[in-house]
Amino acid sequence: MNEIRVRFAPSPTGFLHIGSARTALFNWLYAKNQNGKFLIRIEDTDRKRSKKEYLDEILSSLKWLGMEPGEELFFQSKRIPVYEKYAKKLLDEDKAHYEKTEKGKAIRLKNPKEKIIFNDIVRGKIEFDTKEFADLVLMKSDGTPTYNFACVVDDIEMKITHIIRGEDHISNTPKQIMVYNALGVKPPKFVHIPLILGEDRSRMSKRYGATAIADYKEKGYFPEAIINFLALMGWSPKDNREKLSTEQIIKLFSLKSIKTTPAVFDIKKLDWLNSEYIKAYPAKKAANLIAPFLIKKGLLKKDYDKRWFESVIKAYSTRFSNIDDFIMQAAFCFKEKMDFDQGAVKEHINKDALSYIEKYRERIEKAASFDEKTLEKIARQLAEELGINWARIIHPTRVAVTGRSVSPSIFTVLALLGKERVLKRLKDIQNCPVV
Ligand code: GLU
Repeated sequence: MNEIRVRFAPSPTGFLHIGSARTALFNWLYAKNQNGKFLIRIEDTDRKRSKKEYLDEILSSLKWLGMEPGEELFFQSKRIPVYEKYAKKLLDEDKAHYEKTEKGKAIRLKNPKEKIIFNDIVRGKIEFDTKEFADLVLMKSDGTPTYNFACVVDDIEMKITHIIRGEDHISNTPKQIMVYNALGVKPPKFVHIPLILGEDRSRMSKRYGATAIADYKEKGYFPEAIINFLALMGWSPKDNREKLSTEQIIKLFSLKSIKTTPAVFDIKKLDWLNSEYIKAYPAKKAANLIAPFLIKKGLLKKDYDKRWFESVIKAYSTRFSNIDDFIMQAAFCFKEKMDFDQGAVKEHINKDALSYIEKYRERIEKAASFDEKTLEKIARQLAEELGINWARIIHPTRVAVTGRSVSPSIFTVLALLGKERVLKRLKDIQNCPVV
């Protein structure tokens, strides 16, 4: 059997968008599943809008996600003579004609006015009547090819077997098939994948916040979680499992199992998946992935204490969905000057609370060691002596050292912060104005 060859064909006119990454992924998954080749073609004939910075970003985002091409990149801007050659062939065979325009000469395909029928692997039989179509422009008067022409020429030259792309390209397909027919080449198979809609079911766009993969990378989502998330937009394994490793997805992926209904972009699902991956990673792996983000934000020194940082991650591993979220919850571990949640202060800090905090502080200052067990024992004893529920010591202490009303076990947190910082924070809270 012939080798399966698919391609992802981005135009470098913007950053890699969620929808494009999903298209790239379906191509890549199919190639992997079939032991075929995944190729990348850069559609950069629009010189004004194409930018090197976008190209670099697209390639680095694809690489970050683990999708690298199996052969060298194709650049359309470097292939103008090839398109000219194909156009000339059509002119010579009287299948195309010149058109005079103000700027020069364009080349158009003569419309044979035929019925175009193709079998889309996802959507089944699709028919178009080309009677109403104008003669398709192949080469523009500025000497550059149109998208539909360059796409066909390159798909032929790259020996593409399956064109997997967004449903928004369905209307281009009959035009491209007309070009294949004129060139006497059998078209590849077409696979149009459903659009991605925003949660309000309108088309996903910048209005939904972050749409570039780079934004998700920046926020601290893991590539594996993003791959899993993208795969579920328009595809699912038969058993409705949601968390699947990239290997599992590759194994189960098939074109037949792509859905025809639009996919809905659900950020909560990405958060959930990402948190599942964090939980599943050993603390060391999670810590190594997360540390660079904190270093970049100036929250962690380059030569940070790895063991200590791992313990922080361990304490939080079931509590956060992405790195932004982690930073929000655990910033007090990394910053000397903390932010106080005013609601938490109001709820837990009052005169009584301050007096319990002070008593607790005195005792833990004298304690021989500063481990979780000792800190817990001291709190329990103090509560007993005072005849109060120990929650009345724990909650205000938590607010004093974390600025928040929620955290992992307070004793874990105290031990993580260390004696010096804890004593200082418990002292500082005494200056908090209370009624
Ligand atoms: N450059 C086109 C796009 O970004 C490629 C479409 C295709 O895959 O044929 O949508």
